[in-house]
Amino acid sequence: VGLQIAIDGPASAGKSTVAKLVAKQLHYTYCDTGAMYRSITWAAMQHGLRLTDEVAVVALLDKSTIRFEPGEVEQRVFFNETEVTAAIRQPDVTNNVSTIAALGGVRQKLVQLQHQIAAVGNIVMDGRDIGTAVLPNAEVKIFLVASVSERATRRYKENLTKGINTPLAVLKQEIELRDKKDSTRKISPLVQAKDAVLVDTTSLNIDQVVARIIRIVQE
Ligand code: C5P
Repeated sequence: VGLQIAIDGPASAGKSTVAKLVAKQLHYTYCDTGAMYRSITWAAMQHGLRLTDEVAVVALLDKSTIRFEPGEVEQRVFFNETEVTAAIRQPDVTNNVSTIAALGGVRQKLVQLQHQIAAVGNIVMDGRDIGTAVLPNAEVKIFLVASVSERATRRYKENLTKGINTPLAVLKQEIELRDKKDSTRKISPLVQAKDAVLVDTTSLNIDQVVARIIRIVQE
């Protein structure tokens, strides 16, 4: 096992942006676990499955593959060799993913895959339960937070670049609802690990957050 950096936190706190840059600077592998939950959510929706039907969703996951590839701008994601990089960021997937992520059988499968990826060497992994459940022995654990208003504003700006124009107030509600679902589910809920360092990014830019995390790693 290599060095492990776990980055967790609520929705739209900038985890994947920051985790990717930290991994790049340190020459570590980056693993976006949210993309895995998003991929199976996308596929379950494509198949018209009931999202609370654990047996059906797990059966679909069992016969499927999820694979990452480094890309120019963002990491590319493939579900059964179909590229889903953009599709899994669509608002309908975002708003359904917490339902799928609450299914124990889905989490079990995806955590297995996360362990396989982490076994390869030094890794930066981001998600909700990395420091608490997936990599409990990670050398560095970061819990990334920002105010709801700040997170909604960031998501709003990001959406505009994709031609999505959901009102700020709606985004704020969606973020709060997703955080609530993620932190109240029975299995591996979103919670700060006891040994995680809290980093509040509300008034920091991306470079400042990355620099702070690198400093924590080097301590
Ligand atoms: O990080 P991202 O917003 O892409 O995560 C999407 C959703 O996937 C989260 O809201 C959560 O429901 C689920 N998730 C999870 N555990 C993880 C990563 C993501 O439950 N480790």
